[in-house]
Amino acid sequence: MTSTLWAGAGQIVDGPGGYTGVEAGPEWAAEVRRLAKERNATILAHNYQLPEIQDVADHVGDSLALSRIAAEAEEGTIVFCGVHFMAETAKILSPEKTVLIPDERAGCSLADSITADQLREWKAEHPEALVVSYVNTTAEVKGLTDICCTSSNAVDVVASIDPDREVLFLPDQFLGAHVKRVTGRENMHIWAGECHVHAGINGDELTAKAKSHPDAELFVHPECGCATSALYLAGEGFVPEDKVKILSTGGMLDAARETGAKQVLVATEVGMLHQLRKAAPGVDFQAVNDRASCPYMKMITAAALLRCLVEGKDEVHVAPDVAERARKSVQRMIEIGNPGGGE
Ligand code: SF4
Repeated sequence: MTSTLWAGAGQIVDGPGGYTGVEAGPEWAAEVRRLAKERNATILAHNYQLPEIQDVADHVGDSLALSRIAAEAEEGTIVFCGVHFMAETAKILSPEKTVLIPDERAGCSLADSITADQLREWKAEHPEALVVSYVNTTAEVKGLTDICCTSSNAVDVVASIDPDREVLFLPDQFLGAHVKRVTGRENMHIWAGECHVHAGINGDELTAKAKSHPDAELFVHPECGCATSALYLAGEGFVPEDKVKILSTGGMLDAARETGAKQVLVATEVGMLHQLRKAAPGVDFQAVNDRASCPYMKMITAAALLRCLVEGKDEVHVAPDVAERARKSVQRMIEIGNPGGGE
């Protein structure tokens, strides 16, 4: 880099919880924009990112939409503000681009709930089965997968498979249970994975919140560990079905603008509230569980993004053979039904 750096770059502190030490004020935002331009980079931010990261980004959305934007972007560098498997998916879909993540330690407890070796063993036990994986998986796991799915098209993906063929569904047990119930499929095995961050949104909490806010609508974004459990609970009758809207991110923002309700309970990661409040300032949006905050997502701090743009790190690499196999499973996902938005 040739230009003089903003003094704030010298204050970045690396700790076990991530990078800190930089205030996300207007000077920081201006420096981030300047460095992005200098690097010919576009900044993509997931909906669950901190508000300041969303506000400084070129695009905000869910992981699949962002991966598509990454593939179409004119810039040669993608700065992906999200968790690691999302940046990997962007790399899988745009192998010729440089993909950076501001902190490669930003993992995902759901993606980590199955390793490639565990999947190999599971496949060996069911050699004839087709493997369907939710997008919250590592590139290596995607490389061993026949079809990826989002929660918006998981039912369609499983329904598209020959009814006599066994299915291995992973890694989210809540989404798996939902798909099994809707398709009525008996020969479907479900991996017992979950997002530990959101194990806190349980039936009792959801029921209590719905009861104490009887006029509120309930928006469920089905793409995250927390929301897949809410999806499951809504299906099990824990909350009245007519009040529940299962929506992709884009659908949630449209519904926010159109709702007649004064209050909306939102069952997903709390970062989504920032976009909803911006879209419909007159509506009172409340989190079903305000502890539903993903600490991995929040590792992408102002300091981490600044360091990423200054140093060109952390770069995301996916081995070309793994990427090629993973790309096929992601492309099959896009071809079936409406994949909606990925997490
Ligand atoms: S909220 Fe859960 S599923 Fe989503 S990225 Fe974080 S750990 Fe993964």
